[in-house]
Amino acid sequence: MARLELSNLHAEVAEGDEKILEGVDLEVESGEIHALMGPNGSGKSTTAKVIAGHPAYEVTEGEVLLHLEDEEFGEDIEIDEDQRTWNLLDLEPNERAALGIFLGFQYPAEIEGVTMTNFLRTALNAKIEEREELFEEEEGEDDEEEDDGFESSPMEGPADEGEVGVAEFQQILQEKMEQLDMDEKFAQRYLNAGFSGGEKKQNEVLQAAILEPSVAVLDEIDSGLDIDRLQDVSEGINALRDEQGTGILQITHYQRILDYVEPDHVHVMLDGQIAKSGGPELAEKLEDKGYDWVREDVYGTA
Ligand code: ADP
Ligand code: MG
Ligand code: MG
Repeated sequence: MARLELSNLHAEVAEGDEKILEGVDLEVESGEIHALMGPNGSGKSTTAKVIAGHPAYEVTEGEVLLHLEDEEFGEDIEIDEDQRTWNLLDLEPNERAALGIFLGFQYPAEIEGVTMTNFLRTALNAKIEEREELFEEEEGEDDEEEDDGFESSPMEGPADEGEVGVAEFQQILQEKMEQLDMDEKFAQRYLNAGFSGGEKKQNEVLQAAILEPSVAVLDEIDSGLDIDRLQDVSEGINALRDEQGTGILQITHYQRILDYVEPDHVHVMLDGQIAKSGGPELAEKLEDKGYDWVREDVYGTA
């Protein structure tokens, strides 16, 4: 169990003083699905990027906290009392990721000659290593890697301690792809080369399935998808929640995906603040009445 908590979050463009977020309050727990909706330019993507630690934005006020419970990382890691709450704004993006925050990539350039499989395994191992570093700091250097002279199975190649080897990763990948009902050939393809928009979105969900984040922030993962692909991606998102308890912050301009990924909570962002929150019925009302209705309701003028 983990809880991501944004409170009174203010952010502006780092190079300049244009204010974008003006006091965002939001809490997302593992296992919950939140939809963050709102008109273009209201600050949705900025919220996502600030959570992830994007350097283009400067936080001028407020907090982004991540609260962890005991069982967060299974048996690998024991969480001390003073490691239960993390101030994400003090951490680098890769450290935030290691603690369980996932921001769907938007979208990395094609990388020559790297297969999806290698990319995903590298990402997983980077996360594991970073996590060990974060949680070992307190204890000092006393448990430097011991070399006991035994490699794991020679088939697995020289995986470092704690690292997921090639054979083990193949199993994880296969399991996740089955869970997501994805074609195995996908993983053999080169990163992004010739992936359609829909395939890229599915890769994003696959990446989240492999990294098993506590909270995944998915920014407009529904944009440009035809209905079949939208359903596939939606099933994948539901599986993240159902199979691994990932909390989802689903950013979307349109109500459509919410027919397939039913949110527990719906928030409407206007001018850098959450202007209204409610249940799934709020999304339906937006579909009927548009965002001007919220503006009128909140400010008394459209
Ligand atoms: P949304 O995702 O809701 O459409 P964004 O968070 O992308 O909105 O943008 C909110 C506002 O902040 C917009 O007016 C946008 O032009 C501005 N903005 C966002 N990022 C930058 C940036 N890096 N530089 C300048 N303006 C930005
Ligand atoms: Mg500035
Ligand atoms: Mg956006």
